[in-house]
Amino acid sequence: MSRDRPSGAGRFAPSPTGPLHLGSLLAATASYLDARAQGLAWRVRLDDLDRARNQPGAEREILTALESHGLGWDGPVVRQSEHQGRYRAALDRLAADGRLFYCRCSRSRLAGHRTYPGTCRAHTRPRRDSAARVRVEQTVVEFQDEIQGVQRHDLARETGDFVVLRRDGIVAYQLATAVDDGDPGIIRVVRGRDLLENTPRQVFLMQCLDLPVPVYAHVPLLVNAAGQKLSKQTHAPPLDLSRPRENLRRVLSVLGLAALAEDPPGSCEPLLAEAARRFSVAAVPRGDTTVTEFDRPGASGHRE
Ligand code: GLU
Repeated sequence: MSRDRPSGAGRFAPSPTGPLHLGSLLAATASYLDARAQGLAWRVRLDDLDRARNQPGAEREILTALESHGLGWDGPVVRQSEHQGRYRAALDRLAADGRLFYCRCSRSRLAGHRTYPGTCRAHTRPRRDSAARVRVEQTVVEFQDEIQGVQRHDLARETGDFVVLRRDGIVAYQLATAVDDGDPGIIRVVRGRDLLENTPRQVFLMQCLDLPVPVYAHVPLLVNAAGQKLSKQTHAPPLDLSRPRENLRRVLSVLGLAALAEDPPGSCEPLLAEAARRFSVAAVPRGDTTVTEFDRPGASGHRE
């Protein structure tokens, strides 16, 4: 891939749970264009901590799909499974600061509670067969999202104490992502709007760990007729790698670059280079785009 740029980077962080579909291409392209438009490096990180969800071959399929669409990354592909030492250090720091407690509450016990009821808060020493939760006191997390605007979240009231180490010993998504995106080399996080609800927890953890908070921009989604995000569950098929320019043109039009979407055929790279010259997160429309072609006739959730 192209040479490293020293000045900071954006990143795309898919989970290797299946091949990319049009919705994931939208997130990848937005983050790629945003980095390139600013002369930054673009990194790829595979969020592979949840081994049971990883699909054999998905990692290769994802990287092949990115390459087929001209989305070339900088530096080595990194995997969260290689970062266990960093996550342990972060957990140790949270524990040393008295922020962790060890929770054995089952899902059924927590059912019906909007936020964690505080049941295990007194268990501040590690104990077997428990999850680690971070204590959330009165904390208002505020950040400016470059597409969605100012975000203000009262974490104690709206989220409550949350899991940073799962009961099965797997580092929770919130902690792993906060540590990796809090790396001083990552300065911009551009990803799907569906992840926005996680961002206050990640910013909170970065603040607890004295990590720099990157700039965030959460892009709109591709949704089906029922308003659900395109995903494997909503029957979005893998990207058709024989039509990379068509795929790119579709996502460019969602990102406010409709004029480019009419370009004549050719390879992806010139299209992306032109898109990067014109791209600005500020010009990305906020609303989701409905795509109905993958909907199954009669599938539940159809709006009449
Ligand atoms: N790996 C997660 C996903 O694919 C999170 C990505 C992110 O934080 O950008 O949904």
